[in-house]
Amino acid sequence: MLCPCGCRRVLHMNLLADERPCWRLTRHDDGTTTLHPSVWRTTGCGSHFWFRRGRVEWCRPQ
Ligand SMILES: [Zn+2]
Repeated sequence: MLCPCGCRRVLHMNLLADERPCWRLTRHDDGTTTLHPSVWRTTGCGSHFWFRRGRVEWCRPQ
């Protein structure tokens, strides 16, 4: 997926359980998907967000 902040970087989320870090992709009855845990880029734009039911929810810096 493309980074939702608009920096144009392509993000790769590993879904293989035997590699770290890995994400779990949940598919809902309505066809949307949810990623767990949140995505946090420690390099580049530093985006930190949740992808829930097909929508990006930003984590606000504290
Ligand atoms: Zn970004």
